[in-house]
Amino acid sequence: MIRRNLPAILIAAAVILAAACSTVPYTGRSQMNFLGQKEELALGQQAARQVMQTEKISRDPVMNAAVNRVGRNIAAVANMPGARWEFHVIDKAEPNAFCLPGGIIFVYSGIFKYARNDDQLAAVIGHEVAHALARHGAERMSQQMAVALPGVAVATVLDMQSPVMGQAFARVYGIGAQVGYALPHSRSQELEADRIGLILMAKAGYDPEAAVSFWQNMSRAGGAKLPAFLSTHPVGQARIQAIIRALPEARSYAPGKREQFIPPDDDPPPGVRG
Ligand SMILES: [Zn+2]
Repeated sequence: MIRRNLPAILIAAAVILAAACSTVPYTGRSQMNFLGQKEELALGQQAARQVMQTEKISRDPVMNAAVNRVGRNIAAVANMPGARWEFHVIDKAEPNAFCLPGGIIFVYSGIFKYARNDDQLAAVIGHEVAHALARHGAERMSQQMAVALPGVAVATVLDMQSPVMGQAFARVYGIGAQVGYALPHSRSQELEADRIGLILMAKAGYDPEAAVSFWQNMSRAGGAKLPAFLSTHPVGQARIQAIIRALPEARSYAPGKREQFIPPDDDPPPGVRG
């Protein structure tokens, strides 16, 4: 069956692979990506509905304002056509944040213990927006689907309703599974998101150096149970050193005058400096 269809499959695969190469902004890396932005967006929105049903969405006005304020500023400089940015706070004590395809970002209230001001919050959101901008989730899914390609018709792989697509998405995002929603990226994707995140911070007028202090704060977290964010974002000296090395590049993107997006004085977030 496969043998008989092999020429057709190979041709289709070649066409798809040729069309499937995209370039990551800022780093210029070529990546394999079968998914169009429409498919990414649809998957992201579907998953977001599931998250909203499962998790307690925080109505804390201060945290929501901070996440939206910093998120909009970072998204504005990310220049990602087709993205539909949304920023939500999940009411949970553990420090975590994740981004679904297409730009839907969830920040756990627990992150505010480590992100103590807008600059540090921008480090978290810049990193997550960078994952979306670099389309890391779609890239991981494409890798999963490439494994399935030889035995499965290409049209089936790209069908939104196909089990292959569903499995790839579930495996990459862990939606509905015990692992939670934090997307386990590859190590190189993490470093790339750090680098692009710093650039986005600088472009939006935040101090990229705040990423260093944020990750230092996170590295002191832990205790009996490692927070999910740390299990998907291991923070060692190597990571912090890589961030420090990337600071000059990020600063070269800073606008001449650094704006500081200070929130109204009457309602400062707890521990969040404007
Ligand atoms: Zn990450």
